[in-house]
Amino acid sequence: MTGSDTSYNQLPMRVFFSNLGCKLNQAEVERLKRQFVDGGHELASSLVHADLHVVNSCTVTHVAARDSRKIVRRGRRLNPALKTVLTGCHVNASPDEAAGIAEVDLVVPNEHKDDLLARVREAFPRSVRPLTSAPQNGVPYMPMHLVNTRTLVKIEDGCNMHCAFCVIPHTRGRQRSRTHDQVVDEVRSLAAAGFQEVVLTGVQISSYRWQGRGLFELVEAVLGRTGIPRLRLTSIAPWKFDQRLLDIFASGRLCRHFHLSLQSGSDATLKRMRRPYTSDAFADLVGMIRARVPAIAITTDIIVGFPGETEDEFRDSLDFTERMQFARVHAFPYSSRPHTEAATLSDHVAHHTKRERMKRMLLAGERAERAFWGEQLGTEVEILWERPWRGHWLGMTDNYIRVQTPVPQQTNRLASARLERIREHGVEVADPHSRARLGNSSPPRPSTPSLHP
Ligand code: SF4
Repeated sequence: MTGSDTSYNQLPMRVFFSNLGCKLNQAEVERLKRQFVDGGHELASSLVHADLHVVNSCTVTHVAARDSRKIVRRGRRLNPALKTVLTGCHVNASPDEAAGIAEVDLVVPNEHKDDLLARVREAFPRSVRPLTSAPQNGVPYMPMHLVNTRTLVKIEDGCNMHCAFCVIPHTRGRQRSRTHDQVVDEVRSLAAAGFQEVVLTGVQISSYRWQGRGLFELVEAVLGRTGIPRLRLTSIAPWKFDQRLLDIFASGRLCRHFHLSLQSGSDATLKRMRRPYTSDAFADLVGMIRARVPAIAITTDIIVGFPGETEDEFRDSLDFTERMQFARVHAFPYSSRPHTEAATLSDHVAHHTKRERMKRMLLAGERAERAFWGEQLGTEVEILWERPWRGHWLGMTDNYIRVQTPVPQQTNRLASARLERIREHGVEVADPHSRARLGNSSPPRPSTPSLHP
């Protein structure tokens, strides 16, 4: 069904999206936004002006599940006329509870997310109130426009592994992949819409398999059959790394960035987590990647306080994390989830111990990130300029360094510049006026306004 379909007697709605959780959820919500906009609807920049609130929930921790419920209730409190759709992993993990939330008008489980727009059309055949641009509760109306810089494309979903802490096999089912044509067509249309970077995402994209072809063949197809200037990969399982991917960097379009989920640097903890690798195997993989692709950013996820994690195990995990010099560490305190093996274990780590270990892990992660930035100072990098923020312009390098400059830049422009000095939230690049000297002859153009400060 397309946006021009007039069989539905539905007026355009203003839709506010709330998203929680992982990059996969983010990919899905961005696709939903595009579907609603193509369907003639508008994206609202505030809940008070919205007719419809789509909450893409998460259940990876009990905090994420609680926040999903809170966001639903907050929407209705701010705007009693709002219709609310709840979708995402919290719906699949706790369907009865999701259906029982009084403020929810429509529940859409993950497996029907692709049909969410059609289900909304059926559930709410008419717009719930006339559109108005008048201020509501003192908040002026401002439509939100999709900013075409960087976006995510889902290539696969689900998981056949059984890591002891993880609820994903329960909430997203068995692993399945989209076809080459589906992915290529989506990337092609995003490139045509002006996006400069696409991030291929999924639960763990190294499981991608379609007609005997894996992630390497898909990346080749995307680069060969689309004009997307920059392609980034996320969530690669460390035990399933295809070394042929390292040959593709010569194209200059694949971002020098791999996200390899470590989860713990202690072999004893990894074993209880049912992760099929050791810290040595992980270190060998990282060493091999770095030897082939200098200056590559390797980012990771770490769980702190998994059941039975002793102080010694935590120390091993911390020491290993420091040794790996990750470009970014996403650390999470372990959270017991229903339907997982770890939830049945008895020796859970005390809350205050988890909190204290989290602080140490986060500090180690910050130090490593800044050390990575420091190593890259003086190098010339490719930057995608994204948006203004507090008097600066923000961009992202292909090797995942957040950069800034006080000199106005053009949104959605790829340019190169030299990394000059470390600031609080990223690295400042050399005065863009000097870029001609560095090989980029395009003069800086006036800035374009962005609605995403
Ligand atoms: S953590 Fe394990 S079970 Fe969960 S999605 Fe990743 S590989 Fe699958």
